[in-house]
Amino acid sequence: MTSLFDFSVPTSRQNEWLNITAEVQKAVAASGITEGMCVVFVPHTTAAVTVNENADPDVPHDVGFALNQISPDRQEFRHSEGNSAAHTKTSLIGPSVTVIVSGGKLLLGTWQGIWFNEFDGPRTRRVLVRVLGEC
Ligand code: ZN
Repeated sequence: MTSLFDFSVPTSRQNEWLNITAEVQKAVAASGITEGMCVVFVPHTTAAVTVNENADPDVPHDVGFALNQISPDRQEFRHSEGNSAAHTKTSLIGPSVTVIVSGGKLLLGTWQGIWFNEFDGPRTRRVLVRVLGEC
């Protein structure tokens, strides 16, 4: 059995991290699937999704800082839209994560959350969730 869900994420700025764990867990619950896997996919080229610490807000801040150091705006960039740093960060983080579902819940570690990464906001973004498995 599979179920497909999607939800919107309004973002307010570049390099914003939004914790979407609760929305993804809602999709898992709505699917009725108790044992399987959950794929979270972001259909954008300047936004991404990752799993990282959900306890200390300094962690998203520090990873964002590091990404800015890895991919700052460069005058050598050619892309006319002017957001190549955002495209680069998106490729570094990636468009999807997969989380095991067990007992109807995302099998995340104690300190893990699912984070939506906005690299070129503000925008209204979409997140797709596919849950696969057995009820
Ligand atoms: Zn672009």
